[in-house]
Amino acid sequence: MSLIFKEELTSEQLEYLFHSDEKCYEFLAEVKWKNGFVCRKCGNTNYCPGKKPWSRRCTKCKTEESAASGTIFHNSKFPIHKAFYIAYNVCKVKEEVSTYEFARRLSLRQMTCWNFKTKIRQALQEMDSLSDNERESIKKILQ
Ligand SMILES: [Zn+2]
Repeated sequence: MSLIFKEELTSEQLEYLFHSDEKCYEFLAEVKWKNGFVCRKCGNTNYCPGKKPWSRRCTKCKTEESAASGTIFHNSKFPIHKAFYIAYNVCKVKEEVSTYEFARRLSLRQMTCWNFKTKIRQALQEMDSLSDNERESIKKILQ
């Protein structure tokens, strides 16, 4: 998941992402299909645009895949740009931000922020089960 934030983002990029759902989906799509589109169901590599912003639809089996599926942002119950803000802060910013503080900054319920922060932490922990190589590259990412 932190692979998403592999590269340092400029403050300009962050400004965009933290205020626009559309930009977040665009960003996810860029990261996700960096090496090209492969349909999860049938393996086809041809696609056309889907209905949701930046989603892609397989031209063969017509399965639509959203840019957020397979990431912690999938099925988020609050706007994705707010989820991006929390995720980026948890992954990249050294200073610990409390869930009360997230709630205040983003006008969300504290419980919502707590749940999402927990989800991020779990995702980070799951990386322990990765191979040495994968872990090594992720360590670099998190530094
Ligand atoms: Zn397909």
